[in-house]
Amino acid sequence: MSPFYDLIVVGGGLTGLTAAYRAHQRGWKFLLLEASARFGGSLETLSADGLLQELGAESMVTAKPWGKELCLELGLADQLVSPQPEYHKTMIVRGGRLMSIPEGLRLLAPSQWWPFLRSPAVSWWGKLRMACEFFVPARPAGSGDESLASFVRRRLGQEALERIAQPMVAGIYTADPETLSMRATLPQFLEFERKYGSVCRGLLLSPEARASRGPRYHLFTSLRGGFGQLIEALLGQLPSECVRGGEAVTQLKPLENGWEVNGHSTARVVMATPTYVAAELVRPWDSAAADLLDRQEYLSSATVNLVYPLHCADQATRAYGFVVPAVEKRDILACTFSHRKYPGRTQGDVALLRAYVGGAARPEAMEWSDQEMVARSHCEISRLLGIGEPPVSSVVKRYHRAMPLYRVGHLDWLRTLEDQMSRWPALRLAGNAYSGVGIPDCVHSAQEAITRLAGSAH
Ligand SMILES: Cc1cc2nc3c(=O)[nH]c(=O)nc-3n(C[C@H](O)[C@H](O)[C@H](O)COP(=O)(O)OP(=O)(O)OC[C@H]3O[C@@H](n4cnc5c(N)ncnc54)[C@H](O)[C@@H]3O)c2cc1C
Repeated sequence: MSPFYDLIVVGGGLTGLTAAYRAHQRGWKFLLLEASARFGGSLETLSADGLLQELGAESMVTAKPWGKELCLELGLADQLVSPQPEYHKTMIVRGGRLMSIPEGLRLLAPSQWWPFLRSPAVSWWGKLRMACEFFVPARPAGSGDESLASFVRRRLGQEALERIAQPMVAGIYTADPETLSMRATLPQFLEFERKYGSVCRGLLLSPEARASRGPRYHLFTSLRGGFGQLIEALLGQLPSECVRGGEAVTQLKPLENGWEVNGHSTARVVMATPTYVAAELVRPWDSAAADLLDRQEYLSSATVNLVYPLHCADQATRAYGFVVPAVEKRDILACTFSHRKYPGRTQGDVALLRAYVGGAARPEAMEWSDQEMVARSHCEISRLLGIGEPPVSSVVKRYHRAMPLYRVGHLDWLRTLEDQMSRWPALRLAGNAYSGVGIPDCVHSAQEAITRLAGSAH
């Protein structure tokens, strides 16, 4: 008997919904099963009382085109918004005080030296050490993967690691740079070292770096209605009977001519869940794949949206926000001034600030109660920004084991996993655990999965 469905998608986050959308476009008969009653996974927007609060992801890069392209295809062109140029500034904490991140800093190193040399965010000794990077010999070709910390320490020095790379990268991966794979997360900097013998030289000379010189706010985008709007737009394209929330997949098994998923038969499967969920589903029939999937670690974090009367935060929040180096030993990792960064996030005279808590730097923060998270976030924000009044409202959202940790050796792990899974060509793993954690990466991963499934026999 032929399978009832052409495809079952497991997981209704961005990856799963994109996979379902692509399958629907191909005319496949599909079913998407999502454990939670809500779709969207780490994308969640709360819109109420004149506030638009991003509980999960808040910004998407456009350099990787897949996320923006999907928005355009879904008819959201007029909904895309850029960060507001008048507040184009990000700050960093040093010695308990906020200072501007110098113009031209590219995650690890400066692409413009004059603003960097004038900035107090790095000591003179630190700057001198970073300038020596031009003369640090490159690692021999063919050397294996290394951690972000090892790379930055080796090339740019300890202060660049503690004061620049760690806080900038923690804002993306929430990870400890001592464990984070350079090859899997920032290969462009390895390429600068290989091609130009120096990251700083690469940032000055490479055509890509030269093309993106100047203000970079247009390299990020969001939607007028937040990323919840993307989830709604995807759901709006899918027949409602093909999308089921509140149905966790608990059983997946290979059949002679397809798969059985929670009792439904299907020709193909996309697993768009975290790897620890996929591991338990594949374990009964491929324990080696399950063990590999189980090796992927995840980090937990939380966001704390805080609303203040604008008058007490107006002057201090004329920027996009700030990041906090772990060496500062603060209770928050970063803070976005949401009422400044994208237009239309607030109505009336309020300031909307979003603190980022937990991650590898402060795992114990996930033990705090919601009240404690709010109190500690407010305490840090009020001290750093001089806000004298308590928040008028707050929303805490926890993301338990939602951010995969791309450890040193991640790409080797991925290759071994792909080899192992190649014996199951009608089942594809997709999502943020494999080839990028950002929104565009997840869209790409879903699209790749469908393209590969369309091309493979089942
Ligand atoms: C706090 C936070 C902030 C972030 N900020 C940004 C940002 O600003 N920019 C950016 O580009 N990226 C950001 N990211 C990363 C990005 O949002 C995520 O990587 C991406 O949304 C992951 O999508 P996904 O669908 O792969 O996984 P998820 O969103 O984790 O979705 C997986 C889905 O699978 C479901 N599921 C689990 N088990 C089962 C089961 N047994 N059966 C059925 N369903 C199941 C889950 O309920 C979930 O809905 C952020 C992530 C977090 C956590």
